[in-house]
Amino acid sequence: MPYKRVCAFCGREIEPGTGKMYVTRDGRVYYFCSSKCQKNMLKLGRIPRKIRWTEAYRKEKTVRLHLLQRRGNEGKNTGIAKA
Ligand SMILES: [Zn+2]
Repeated sequence: MPYKRVCAFCGREIEPGTGKMYVTRDGRVYYFCSSKCQKNMLKLGRIPRKIRWTEAYRKEKTVRLHLLQRRGNEGKNTGIAKA
C-alpha cells in the first residue's frame, strides 16, 4: 500500500504517484506537492507559518485566536472581581 506523505510547505497530503521528493546536501528530505510549494520554500525562502494558504498558518491562527479569547476572558473576570 502506498504511503501518503505530507507536503513540507503547505502541509497537505500528497496523492501517491505525484509530487516531488527533494533532498538537500546536508541530508534533509522534503516532500512537495507542487512546484509552487517548492519555490516558496527553497527559492523564495518563505516561512510556512507566515503564508496564508498553508496548514501551518491555519494552525497558528487557531492558537492565536484561542489565546486572544482566553486573554479577553481573563480581562473580563478581573473586571467582574473588581466590581
Ligand atoms: Zn504543498
